[in-house]
Amino acid sequence: MIEDIFLSRYDDVAAAWRLLRPRTGLRLREVACVGAPRTLLLAELGDPRLPVVNISAGVHGDEPAGVWALLSLVADGLLDPRYSYRLWPCFNPTGFAAGTRTNAEGTDVNRTFGRGGTSPEAKAILTANRDRVFELAIDLHEDHEADGFYLYETAPSGWRGSYARPITAGMAAAGFPLQNFAPEFELGPPGSEAAQTRGSGAVLVDATREAPFFKGALPLGLVLVRRAVPCALTFETPRSRDPAERVAMHRVAVVEALRQLSGEGNGNHA
Ligand SMILES: [Zn+2]
Repeated sequence: MIEDIFLSRYDDVAAAWRLLRPRTGLRLREVACVGAPRTLLLAELGDPRLPVVNISAGVHGDEPAGVWALLSLVADGLLDPRYSYRLWPCFNPTGFAAGTRTNAEGTDVNRTFGRGGTSPEAKAILTANRDRVFELAIDLHEDHEADGFYLYETAPSGWRGSYARPITAGMAAAGFPLQNFAPEFELGPPGSEAAQTRGSGAVLVDATREAPFFKGALPLGLVLVRRAVPCALTFETPRSRDPAERVAMHRVAVVEALRQLSGEGNGNHA
């Protein structure tokens, strides 16, 4: 079933989200991309007066597990109702349709969140998010080189890391493999090693020190933590594993992150 779904088109993703509307109360809209003939789907879930969690997927079009995991988290009612949600089902529809990392113009959208957004997608996302603040932001990715799950926990200098340990512990308890980082395993732009602390399955990113290495070509997390959110999580599932397992990994990691946010996780999030 999930293998079949991985062969489906972007239109199938959008249709599946629309089908969820009646029973979940999802509020769906299409956000226009200025200067490109495409729109981005934006879904809002829950009471808008509640604290908001932002979750996105599919910024890289060849990383489908996050896209289907986000849909299934809503379909199966796994998002904690004590929060409301701003959900971006697929940040890069043309890349998803083509099965490419980049968008139709050959741009890596996740290097265009600096300077107010330098791709049509990033500009649309940053404009739609303007002045909004979130309790937590999660972006779902996949990694072609990894053979286990790992995450980035990105926050300004001084953040002690609240999510990495409980999420990786939850993943291990669920029986999923965690990525071990060999020294040559790529985790950021050249020269940025000093800004990162690697642990088993987790990378703590000091956004204050890391951002300059991107020279303006910023990924989403580094921009969100400037004003919009205390901490941004990026989950990476290994493309080498079975699709169903990769979807399951994202689901467990998101649920574990929300447990930690609510204070019910097994870590010590303040
Ligand atoms: Zn990615």
